[in-house]
This record gives sequence, structure tokens and C-alpha cells, in this order.
Amino acid sequence: MMYQVKDLRLSFPDMAHKPLFGAAPRIEVLKGVSFDLPKGAVLGIVGGSGSGKSTLGRAMLRLLEPDTGQILFDGQDITHMPEDGLRGMRRRFQMIFQDPMSSLNPRRRVGGIIAGPLRLHGFEDAPARVAEALDMVGLPRHFAQRFPHELSGGQRQRVGIARAIALRPDFILADEIVSGLDVSSQAQVLNLLEELVKELGLTLGFISHDLSVIRRLCDRILVLHHGEVVEDSETAALFDAPKAEYTRELLDAIPLPDPHQNWT
Ligand code: ADP
Ligand code: MG
Repeated sequence: MMYQVKDLRLSFPDMAHKPLFGAAPRIEVLKGVSFDLPKGAVLGIVGGSGSGKSTLGRAMLRLLEPDTGQILFDGQDITHMPEDGLRGMRRRFQMIFQDPMSSLNPRRRVGGIIAGPLRLHGFEDAPARVAEALDMVGLPRHFAQRFPHELSGGQRQRVGIARAIALRPDFILADEIVSGLDVSSQAQVLNLLEELVKELGLTLGFISHDLSVIRRLCDRILVLHHGEVVEDSETAALFDAPKAEYTRELLDAIPLPDPHQNWT
């Protein structure tokens, strides 16, 4: 298993209701989340805004520390692992962000953006790996000289993907990465991800508020609602016979290309 997540709970302090003296009350954002993610699988994480998707993703990458429960990554308990223990593992789980414009340093060239994490993780052949990563995401090598503002939205998202895969991680978490793109760039980025998962043997977590985006890419889908898993099904089963009422609501919200056609 790439991930085994058991009864994960995570809360934030509610600063809006903090008394003048004393600790702020806590808002529980993940309320006992459990699931398994096998190696090589693509897991979709869907749910409405504020359902806890990004929080779950950040906990899986230990950018946040859970209150209770357990996260095993490749069999190792990382739930409360201190940063010096995590340092050696961080290369293995990477994230691609929603908005490449704000996650790519505007003053650095593409080559430097991709090389940064490589150098941080001690790779000495960074330039060769940058070139290879650009090849893998279908960008010409001379794009290494460009700045983010010189690229289209889809190209910027490819740079974000290149930066993650250059490290040859085992797991990538993609958080709403096609939400800001037009439909044709969306399809191109999804195709690219699908190819990379196959070629590199990646395990992928794909967060989206949009079930139609997730359908083709994912083997399994986790539906989050108010910080709880309301459905954990194989993709075909979820579209054929959704178990949760909330999943049905999400399915109803997808516009059908042909109103007479069914999802089945
Ligand atoms: P989603 O990604 O599904 O839209 P999030 O995981 O970002 O949801 O957020 C879930 C809830 O947790 C929201 O109500 C949000 O306001 C709250 N939240 C997220 N991050 C923080 C934080 N750092 N401090 C306080 N509350 C937070
Ligand atoms: Mg989010």
C-alpha cells in the first residue's frame, strides 16, 4: 500500500471565536477519515468547497500534523514524524498546486524553478534532470530559459508537473490542478497525467470539486462531505450506483452532454 489512512482527525483553532484570554476553540475539519491507496492507483478526492479535501492532501504530505489517527506511507508511520525524519522522505511525495502562477516564482526561469527542489534534495545532475523533465511533460527544452509569465496557463501547469516528477517521487498529490484551465487545456493536462502515471509507475491523488473531471483518470473515488468520507467506491461503481445521497447530488450537478443519455 502507498497509503493507509486510519481514523484521521485534524482541527484548526477558530480565531474568530477566541476569547481574550485563553485558547481558541477548535474547528474539526477532518472527522475520522479512513482509506487505503494501493501502489500505482489513482485516487480521486471529491467534495464541495470547504469539505476538507486540501486539508486531507496536506496531511497526507505531512504539511499539516493530524490531531489523532494514523497515516502510513509505504508502511511507515508518518503521522507525527518529526521534520528531521520527514526530510529523508519528502522527495517521495510531491504536490502539484491549483494555481501555477502563484506557486511558480515569477522572477525565476523555468529551468531554475524545476532545478530548485532537485538541488535541495542533493541531486548533482540537476540540468540533465531538468531537460528530461521538460521532455516528459512535452515542453521544448529551450523553455528552461523562459519566465512563468511568458507561458500559457496549460504550459505553466506542465512546469508544475515537471517540477514534481523531476524528483521521481512515488506519490503525487494534484490539488484542483485543472480548475483554472479552459476545457481543451484541461483535457491535455489530464492526458499527460494519465501517461505519466503509467510510464513512471506513479501513485496519484487527484483532488477536484468536479466529478466529471475525475471520472476518466481515477480508479477509485473518495467523496468527502464536511470532513467525513461519505463514499469510497471504484469509479465505475460510483457512477453506476452511488451509495451516498451526497454523491447523487454531485452527480446531478454534472451537466450531461446529451440530456437523454445516462451516466451508466
Ligand atoms: P477544500 O479544499 O475541500 O475546499 P479545505 O481543506 O481547504 O477545503 O478547508 C476545509 C475547512 O478548513 C474550511 O472550512 C477552511 O476554512 C478550514 N481551514 C483550512 N485551512 C485552515 C487553516 N489553516 N486555519 C483555519 N481553518 C482552516
Ligand atoms: Mg481545496
